Amino acid sequence: MIRASARARAPARTADGARDARARAPRVAAATRGARSGAAIRARTAPRTRASAGDEGDDDVDVPFEPSYVPRAPGVRDGAWAKVDADAVVASIRDADATARNAGKVMDGEPFSLLGLTSSELKQFAIDRGLPAFRGKQIADHLYAGGGASARSVDDFTTLSKKVREELKAQNVQVGRATLHHVAESTDGTTKLLLRLSDNRVVETVGIPAKEYGKSRLTCCVSSQVGCPMRCTFCATGKGGFARNLAPHEIVDQVLAIEAHFGERVSNVVFMGMGEPLLNVPNVLKAHKALNEEIGIGARHITISTVGVRGSIEKLAHAQLQSVLAVSLHAPNQALRETIIPSAKVYPMEDLLRDCEQYFIATGRRVTFEYTLLGGVNDQPEHAKELGRLLYARNLASHVNLIPYNPVDESDFKRPTRATITEFKDILEGLNVPASVRVTKGLDAAAACGQLRNEFQKNAIEGDLKPATV
Ligand code: SAH
Repeated sequence: MIRASARARAPARTADGARDARARAPRVAAATRGARSGAAIRARTAPRTRASAGDEGDDDVDVPFEPSYVPRAPGVRDGAWAKVDADAVVASIRDADATARNAGKVMDGEPFSLLGLTSSELKQFAIDRGLPAFRGKQIADHLYAGGGASARSVDDFTTLSKKVREELKAQNVQVGRATLHHVAESTDGTTKLLLRLSDNRVVETVGIPAKEYGKSRLTCCVSSQVGCPMRCTFCATGKGGFARNLAPHEIVDQVLAIEAHFGERVSNVVFMGMGEPLLNVPNVLKAHKALNEEIGIGARHITISTVGVRGSIEKLAHAQLQSVLAVSLHAPNQALRETIIPSAKVYPMEDLLRDCEQYFIATGRRVTFEYTLLGGVNDQPEHAKELGRLLYARNLASHVNLIPYNPVDESDFKRPTRATITEFKDILEGLNVPASVRVTKGLDAAAACGQLRNEFQKNAIEGDLKPATV
């Protein structure tokens, strides 16, 4: 647990408006040492329950806490895409490759996470340790039991002998679950969890329960990175910088945490949380495999959302996933898109749409487009007409998801009016481009990407968030 006062501090700013990383990086001792703040925090953070306990987590010892906020790299600032941004993207892709190489590789003394491995990989893991292959299958059963019954620690592998469990722990083998750091529930049932990772970074994941044709659905919106280097102007995550990519176990864990919170299985997964999944392709693909094969989420019920990273859509096409690729377009032309998405400068819309066509040819799966409606910026009838004509002419008229902008701190955009949203949708459909308006879920729980994480850090105690209920 974290002391309130240090985290509640608002971000300091330097003269050029960049955040002061040092002011944001207090090393905070566990709250239990300071009884007063500890009591205050306990009301707001998750109680130490089965769902919140980490593998080796112990809330009663000093925990060095890296702030959830990720400061931007030196030199990165709002405005046009610059070399420093391109460098951050290259670094992010390299980091993803390194993370993927290390996941699943036992390194002397380094913690090794089992979560994210498939049954066949776990069988091999067992064989490598001189155990019969079926022990690997038993481990898989414990890891992916679901609905809150999934193992949190090696001690939960109750079908393995105590001796084997002790041996695994001695080799620093872990399940790889995060600690539940905070829960925020909105009145419509949408729930955001902040998960504290083993390096004390915090990511958010969202559970969205819904009923469709009488059947219940539980969608989990997962993060793929800690922070994001893409800098989309209206996105809360993009207001900060990039720290690192999530490993497969850290992605899969988000789904298990949502299952534990709701006590039921997740039916759909959308990679629409923090981060740009196509900067983290190898780990996203590994997580996808585990979600599909082990947790049983149908590939068609998994959506990977991207703002576009040159060269990455073909990597995804190569994987031949039967999943939905959603492209965040947000503008009907290059000039406007660049003002909303600075990175569009180096991956022009023409190239992006051509890659979407190629994706369709290669996989037989049409691309879905997301369009965040920003009041007075990209939501006018002429924008709808231009978008409709563009997608129809290119034979890309698959589906447009219209997302009304969710207000984000430090961003001046406005939410469009209901009438504007309806008119935009009607114009698209009049041009034979199917469109739907995404119902804003959990606005009161800080719905936009990365927003809760930012909000939580600024208002760790004083915010309107409900106490933990897990
Ligand atoms: N980086 C990926 C996935 C994360 S964002 C991408 O850009 O697609 C998932 C979706 O939420 C994107 O379409 C993004 O544009 C949208 N989004 C982010 N912040 C938003 C906000 N404040 N209001 C409305 N939509 C937002």
